[in-house]
Amino acid sequence: MDDRSDAAADYDLFVIGGGINGCGIARDAAGRGLSVALAEMNDLASATSSASTKLFHGGLRYLEYFEVRLVRESLIERETLLKAMPHISWPMRFVLPFHRNMRFDNSTPTSRLLNTVMPWMKGRRPGWLIRLGLLMYDNLGGREILPGTKTIDLDRSVEGKPLKDRFSHAYEYSDAWVQDSRLVVLNARDAQARGADILTRTKVTEAERIGDHWQIKVMNRRSGSERTIRAKMLVNAGGPWVGDVIRTKVRSNSTDGVRLVRGSHIVTHKLYDHEKCYFFQGRDGRIIFAIPYEQDFTLIGTTDSEQDDPDKKPECTEEEMDYLCNFASEYFEKPVTRDDIVWTYSGVRPLYDDGAKSATAATRDYTLKIDEAGGAPLLNIFGGKITTYRRLAEHALEKIVPYFPQATGAWTAGATLPGGDFKVVETRGRIDQLETDYPFLGPKWAERMIRHYGNEAWAILGDANSEEDLGASFGATLTEAEVLWLIEKEYAETAEDVIWRRTKLGLKLDEPQVDQIESFMRDAQIALKERAAE
Ligand SMILES: Cc1cc2nc3c(=O)[nH]c(=O)nc-3n(C[C@H](O)[C@H](O)[C@H](O)COP(=O)(O)OP(=O)(O)OC[C@H]3O[C@@H](n4cnc5c(N)ncnc54)[C@H](O)[C@@H]3O)c2cc1C
Repeated sequence: MDDRSDAAADYDLFVIGGGINGCGIARDAAGRGLSVALAEMNDLASATSSASTKLFHGGLRYLEYFEVRLVRESLIERETLLKAMPHISWPMRFVLPFHRNMRFDNSTPTSRLLNTVMPWMKGRRPGWLIRLGLLMYDNLGGREILPGTKTIDLDRSVEGKPLKDRFSHAYEYSDAWVQDSRLVVLNARDAQARGADILTRTKVTEAERIGDHWQIKVMNRRSGSERTIRAKMLVNAGGPWVGDVIRTKVRSNSTDGVRLVRGSHIVTHKLYDHEKCYFFQGRDGRIIFAIPYEQDFTLIGTTDSEQDDPDKKPECTEEEMDYLCNFASEYFEKPVTRDDIVWTYSGVRPLYDDGAKSATAATRDYTLKIDEAGGAPLLNIFGGKITTYRRLAEHALEKIVPYFPQATGAWTAGATLPGGDFKVVETRGRIDQLETDYPFLGPKWAERMIRHYGNEAWAILGDANSEEDLGASFGATLTEAEVLWLIEKEYAETAEDVIWRRTKLGLKLDEPQVDQIESFMRDAQIALKERAAE
């Protein structure tokens, strides 16, 4: 590594990790006038931030762990985020069927308390407790957009139809949905629009303190070439690799640990015919969701299993598939079987190691730790949720700003992401308007475009009068015009980036179609490079 400690730093802030936390921090910092670079070793959101359940939620079950700070912050945040991105996020209603034999996870503080004061309940979760939890959920964070809790009669409602007869009533409450990997990319784009350099497929291989600067060695994973970048401060938002960065890249003595907890989901063809989600409580005290997904599917998850190595690709095991099928079949009249599964995905939660006994009980809250040992500061990020990413970034900036007196104040609350400059209540109108302007789209395609690109859908479709005007058609409504947009504006480089992270069209495309996208993208990137060199 070259030692240029007398030269000015290339950047104020260097962020390791292009998941939601890294991109959120880069965006916030760039908007406050700091010079920022972010390195992501693969594609943006290629790790945990594309593998979540995709909820902006308070986390009803965390109330049983008395995580009131986290729940309150998340509940308040739901509406702030919905307003900033009404295209990629939307309100959802959750139906929680009630049955008297619902049980607690016996390690929660609430269950321990109830076992002491009401031992005759024998670990059952009483109805009044769920109502109390929902009352808190409705009121802890304040609500303007989202409706409150109500009870529903499952014998007489559409929500009861797919369920077994023994479920006769349910509670219904609000949370919100978000397209997680699109959230990451839009944060990266906004950071870039505010001056940040976003370096994808760029791995940090070493970071060394040289006096009051960091020297950061990065490797371009496309070409294998290496270079050194200098920055005044380093942020480690490596998610599951946060410990690896501390130990093997920065080589710090920090004793803080990360606990890796794998969570898997299964996707089936649509299991029921309405737009609400189900919140199912299991015999083991855990909960799972069943959620309408990508227009034609149902998403079911998640599990909690320990994972020892961040480099081991998380995969949904056969046991996890069976667990989720059996869990859902306790509720659905028609059993969910392995044959119903069309796709699975799995991710690793990088939780702060708080010494909890079980993976389910480990805290979901985030912890930010400054390390100043011997000079330039390092900020390590542990834990966090998609829902709290903006607040996590604000808290991170509270720790960063003292090193940069020129930085301006907090600004992201109320600032929309690209394409999201309309009101939450206007989404349906935007979809209808797009279909009116481009009648060849039809309702489902128009909805997909607004839910992915919001007001930018018009820029992608341009003056097209027919599908042919959008260039090559790859299947499932994916066209050349959209793929080019994803390459030029959204850092997409491979077919996988396009079909599993910028969109989820991988659910509908077959292998020859994916090969066609791959080869089109290769040619398009060469042509773009040649054009840029002219
Ligand atoms: C199954 C599951 C369900 C979840 N559901 C929800 C939910 O519904 N709602 C919610 O709010 N939250 C949810 N979460 C939590 C949420 O997904 C995570 O907290 C969040 O995505 C973590 O983001 P991150 O940026 O910290 O990590 P990541 O997204 O993993 O990003 C870290 C990035 O750092 C990169 N990196 C690491 N080392 C290097 C290096 N040396 N050089 C360059 N790059 C590097 C990695 O490639 C990676 O892309 C869920 C999590 C899981 C696993």
